[in-house]
Amino acid sequence: MLRAIYPGSFDPVTNGHLDIIKRASRIADELIIGVLKNKTKSSLFSMEERVTMLEQVVAGYGNVSVMSFEGLLAGFARRLDAGVVIRGLRAAGDFTYECRMSQANSALYPGLETLFLPAAPEYSHISSSMVKEIASYGGDTGLFVPQTVALQLKQKFAGRDLVS
Ligand code: ADP
Repeated sequence: MLRAIYPGSFDPVTNGHLDIIKRASRIADELIIGVLKNKTKSSLFSMEERVTMLEQVVAGYGNVSVMSFEGLLAGFARRLDAGVVIRGLRAAGDFTYECRMSQANSALYPGLETLFLPAAPEYSHISSSMVKEIASYGGDTGLFVPQTVALQLKQKFAGRDLVS
């Protein structure tokens, strides 16, 4: 029984994340999306909003669930008795950092493995920060995120340009 965690900020979830979720859900018996409450990075969407958006878009998967967590990923994996962490790799530059994180995680929780899934070419350019930037200028993010997320991005930025 393979229980895997797919951790990230998901601020917000994109089509690239969804592709990884779809592929990982075929590999793992159970996939838990771990939404990180980040101490240092401030997020556009609240934890509740990020979790709700994810729950909406993974509703069709019987073996995927969404949880929030704070602190070390190794601790979260230990508490859930998960043996595998899933990470997506978009570009070669991601690898050095991800490799170090994976080594630290398995030092903290021996036996914890990281499985890297290469981004599909059609999604490899998509990142949460890119869609936030597009939305901040009033652009349509519908090509990069699920419709429900595109709508929430639009609402988040509506009227913001009137402020500053
Ligand atoms: P983090 O802040 O931990 O990088 P993200 O929410 O940005 O969190 O990403 C979570 C995971 O999803 C990471 O492993 C990241 O590499 C991966 N990822 C992000 N965007 C894509 C994409 N377009 N295609 C494939 N994987 C992606």
